[in-house]
Amino acid sequence: MSTIKNILKKLSENSTESTPQEWQTLLEISDPQEMQSLYDAAYALKLDTVGSNVYFRGIVEMSNICTKDCYYCGIRNSNSNVERYDMSEDEIVREALWAHENQYGSIVLQSGERQDANFTDKITKILKRIKEESNGELGITISLGEQTEEVYRTWFEAGAHRYLLRVETTNPELYGTLHPESHDFQTRINCLDILRKAGYQVGTGVMIGLPGQTTADLAQDVKFFRDKDIDMIGMGPYIVHSETPLAEKAETINDEEQLNMGLKMIAVTRLVLRDVNIAATTALQALNPTGREMGLQAGANIIMPNLTDTSYRKGYQLYEGKPCLDENSTMCRGCLKGRVASIGETIGLDQWGDSPHFIKRNEKHQN
Ligand code: SAM
Ligand code: SF4
Repeated sequence: MSTIKNILKKLSENSTESTPQEWQTLLEISDPQEMQSLYDAAYALKLDTVGSNVYFRGIVEMSNICTKDCYYCGIRNSNSNVERYDMSEDEIVREALWAHENQYGSIVLQSGERQDANFTDKITKILKRIKEESNGELGITISLGEQTEEVYRTWFEAGAHRYLLRVETTNPELYGTLHPESHDFQTRINCLDILRKAGYQVGTGVMIGLPGQTTADLAQDVKFFRDKDIDMIGMGPYIVHSETPLAEKAETINDEEQLNMGLKMIAVTRLVLRDVNIAATTALQALNPTGREMGLQAGANIIMPNLTDTSYRKGYQLYEGKPCLDENSTMCRGCLKGRVASIGETIGLDQWGDSPHFIKRNEKHQN
């Protein structure tokens, strides 16, 4: 049996003997047939572990004001070409309720990072209003960067129950090349532990195909997700934004390779982590019009339709070529329904679609 077949067999059978070295071998596949067999194995395991329902998390990109300066991100504080916006409480609640009325089940509130009280208090109010005005029915994920334990707890009590904080890479040296010195790798990692303690379903992820990143790094990222017992994964290809410092290191990056590496990471993560939620992120679609469907077929089970009002979308360009800038929420909904149906999957309407991994861990603790 070929090495690839052997590794896939081991992973499909849930063998504890599978190693990061083997995952790296899978990430290095370049033969199209072997790539397909990797996606097929991950898809089969996805059907067994989380099923064929795709869950929607409508994303509201609340504000592009950010106090940080990550070298890869188009809305970093130092990019003076960006026109900054900050949606009002009413606008944000309105978009959340639109998602509820349209049976999305859950939303994600995301923005640049701010730690001032004006910001954290506003978020608390918004969370309480969304919970109240949706009769507690709308699930809420937040993705608002690094905060204190107290703030994380306040937001949890106000109604958020999932938190997405990508660590970007688990290689500290590589992290150092992507951020100014003031952005501390260990602080970010510690936030994941604090979030878990506060009661959240914890999501993390990395950017894939970063300048200087190796397949060994990516295999270690998957090991990190497993060792940290992560519930949800939101990861996607790194895409260049020309007004950022990282752009000059990224000249040789190729869209097709980025897409393939993004899909291989989804598949390997599904095979290793098994019953977690994995998002097919918009960055996949930026590289290929059907990138998100490809993500679902490589093992992802979550999609994040954009709810942000069209007038703000151009202000939230983390990278170039972000799709759907001229569309509105209704168009996104119609388009996605068709896309999900086109690959024979169904949408889990009006359901939170919590991570089965999280549910099982909680049951274990209660018994
Ligand atoms: N500010 C919060 C944070 O950084 O956690 C949340 C919003 S931030 C825009 C969300 C994610 O966008 C980051 O974690 C990063 O992985 C991703 N991102 C930023 N720039 C990107 C780029 N050029 N290509 C792909 N993803 C990018
Ligand atoms: Fe700010 Fe997040 Fe972009 Fe970093 S990735 S600059 S924290 S919005």
